[in-house]
Amino acid sequence: MEGSCLCGDIKFQINIDMLRMYQCHCEQCRKQTGTASSCGSVVTQDQFSWTSGESNITKWEKDSGFTSHFCSKCGSSVPNKFRGEPFYWIPVGLVDSNKVQTVANIFTGEKVTWSHVDSFIHPHDKKPAIKTMIKLLCE
Ligand SMILES: [Zn+2]
Ligand SMILES: [Zn+2]
Repeated sequence: MEGSCLCGDIKFQINIDMLRMYQCHCEQCRKQTGTASSCGSVVTQDQFSWTSGESNITKWEKDSGFTSHFCSKCGSSVPNKFRGEPFYWIPVGLVDSNKVQTVANIFTGEKVTWSHVDSFIHPHDKKPAIKTMIKLLCE
Protein backbone atom coordinates (compact mmCIF):
# COMPACT_ATOMS: atom_id res chain seq x y z
CA MET A 1 0.00 0.00 0.00
CA GLU A 2 1.06 3.58 -0.61
CA GLY A 3 0.89 6.77 1.37
CA SER A 4 1.58 10.46 0.91
CA CYS A 5 1.43 13.79 2.71
CA LEU A 6 -1.19 16.41 1.93
CA CYS A 7 0.88 18.20 -0.75
CA GLY A 8 2.15 14.94 -2.24
CA ASP A 9 5.87 15.76 -2.00
CA ILE A 10 6.50 12.98 0.50
CA LYS A 11 5.52 9.50 -0.60
CA PHE A 12 6.16 6.06 0.83
CA GLN A 13 5.27 2.45 0.35
CA ILE A 14 4.42 -0.27 2.89
CA ASN A 15 4.68 -3.87 1.85
CA ILE A 16 1.85 -5.28 3.98
CA ASP A 17 -1.64 -6.73 3.37
CA MET A 18 -3.35 -5.37 6.46
CA LEU A 19 -2.12 -2.45 8.54
CA ARG A 20 -2.74 -2.79 12.28
CA MET A 21 -3.53 0.49 13.92
CA TYR A 22 -3.82 2.00 17.39
CA GLN A 23 -5.64 5.15 18.40
CA CYS A 24 -3.84 7.37 20.89
CA HIS A 25 -5.96 9.63 23.07
CA CYS A 26 -3.09 11.48 24.80
CA GLU A 27 -2.83 15.23 25.14
CA GLN A 28 0.39 15.45 23.12
CA CYS A 29 -1.18 13.74 20.08
CA ARG A 30 -4.21 15.99 20.47
CA LYS A 31 -2.05 19.10 20.31
CA GLN A 32 0.03 17.74 17.45
CA THR A 33 -2.89 16.71 15.25
CA GLY A 34 -5.62 19.12 16.29
CA THR A 35 -7.94 16.14 16.60
CA ALA A 36 -9.28 14.13 19.56
CA SER A 37 -7.03 11.15 18.90
CA SER A 38 -4.30 10.11 16.53
CA CYS A 39 -4.20 6.97 14.38
CA GLY A 40 -0.80 5.31 14.32
CA SER A 41 0.77 2.08 13.21
CA VAL A 42 4.15 0.44 13.43
CA VAL A 43 5.74 -1.62 10.67
CA THR A 44 9.10 -3.28 10.38
CA GLN A 45 11.88 -1.50 8.51
CA ASP A 46 11.84 -4.25 5.85
CA GLN A 47 8.21 -3.46 5.06
CA PHE A 48 8.77 0.27 4.66
CA SER A 49 10.38 2.37 1.92
CA TRP A 50 10.39 6.04 0.94
CA THR A 51 9.31 6.76 -2.63
CA SER A 52 10.01 10.50 -2.62
CA GLY A 53 10.51 13.62 -0.56
CA GLU A 54 12.42 12.24 2.42
CA SER A 55 14.68 15.32 2.41
CA ASN A 56 11.62 17.59 2.91
CA ILE A 57 11.02 16.26 6.43
CA THR A 58 11.41 18.51 9.48
CA LYS A 59 11.84 17.00 12.93
CA TRP A 60 10.79 18.67 16.18
CA GLU A 61 11.29 17.22 19.65
CA LYS A 62 9.54 18.18 22.86
CA ASP A 63 11.42 18.09 26.22
CA SER A 64 9.38 14.99 27.12
CA GLY A 65 10.95 13.11 24.18
CA PHE A 66 7.78 13.27 22.09
CA THR A 67 8.85 13.86 18.50
CA SER A 68 7.00 15.20 15.54
CA HIS A 69 8.17 14.62 11.97
CA PHE A 70 6.34 16.60 9.35
CA CYS A 71 6.41 17.72 5.73
CA SER A 72 8.24 21.07 5.57
CA LYS A 73 5.86 22.25 2.87
CA CYS A 74 2.35 21.18 3.97
CA GLY A 75 2.82 20.25 7.64
CA SER A 76 1.39 16.71 7.45
CA SER A 77 2.74 14.25 10.00
CA VAL A 78 4.96 11.76 8.20
CA PRO A 79 6.45 8.35 9.07
CA ASN A 80 9.61 8.20 11.16
CA LYS A 81 12.02 5.53 12.20
CA PHE A 82 12.25 4.47 15.85
CA ARG A 83 15.53 5.54 17.41
CA GLY A 84 17.89 2.59 17.24
CA GLU A 85 15.10 0.11 16.41
CA PRO A 86 14.20 -1.56 13.08
CA PHE A 87 10.65 -0.14 13.02
CA TYR A 88 8.82 2.78 11.43
CA TRP A 89 5.93 4.68 12.97
CA ILE A 90 3.17 5.39 10.44
CA PRO A 91 0.52 8.13 10.67
CA VAL A 92 -2.32 5.99 9.31
CA GLY A 93 -4.32 8.85 7.77
CA LEU A 94 -1.61 9.21 5.10
CA VAL A 95 -2.16 5.71 3.78
CA ASP A 96 -4.28 5.36 0.63
CA SER A 97 -5.89 2.06 1.57
CA ASN A 98 -8.83 0.81 3.61
CA LYS A 99 -6.95 -2.30 4.66
CA VAL A 100 -6.55 -1.04 8.21
CA GLN A 101 -7.64 -2.76 11.39
CA THR A 102 -7.80 -1.16 14.85
CA VAL A 103 -6.04 -3.34 17.43
CA ALA A 104 -5.52 -1.04 20.41
CA ASN A 105 -6.43 2.19 22.12
CA ILE A 106 -3.84 3.87 24.30
CA PHE A 107 -3.90 6.70 26.83
CA THR A 108 -7.67 6.23 27.17
CA GLY A 109 -7.23 7.87 30.60
CA GLU A 110 -6.57 11.16 28.77
CA LYS A 111 -9.48 10.85 26.34
CA VAL A 112 -11.49 14.06 26.17
CA THR A 113 -15.15 13.94 27.14
CA TRP A 114 -16.21 15.40 23.78
CA SER A 115 -14.57 12.61 21.76
CA HIS A 116 -16.92 9.97 20.40
CA VAL A 117 -14.16 7.85 18.90
CA ASP A 118 -14.62 4.22 19.95
CA SER A 119 -11.98 3.18 22.45
CA PHE A 120 -13.18 -0.27 23.55
CA ILE A 121 -10.70 -2.32 21.48
CA HIS A 122 -7.73 -3.30 23.71
CA PRO A 123 -7.89 -0.17 25.86
CA HIS A 124 -4.83 0.89 27.85
CA ASP A 125 -5.22 3.64 30.42
CA LYS A 126 -1.68 4.89 29.78
CA LYS A 127 1.01 3.91 27.32
CA PRO A 128 1.70 0.17 27.17
CA ALA A 129 5.30 -1.03 27.09
CA ILE A 130 6.88 -0.65 23.68
CA LYS A 131 7.23 -4.46 23.46
CA THR A 132 3.48 -4.86 24.00
CA MET A 133 2.80 -2.37 21.23
CA ILE A 134 5.17 -4.06 18.79
CA LYS A 135 3.53 -7.42 19.55
CA LEU A 136 0.04 -6.03 18.93
CA LEU A 137 0.98 -4.14 15.78
CA CYS A 138 3.68 -6.21 14.10
CA GLU A 139 3.46 -9.87 15.11
ZN1 LIG B 1 3.60 17.72 2.08
ZN1 LIG C 1 -0.49 10.11 21.95
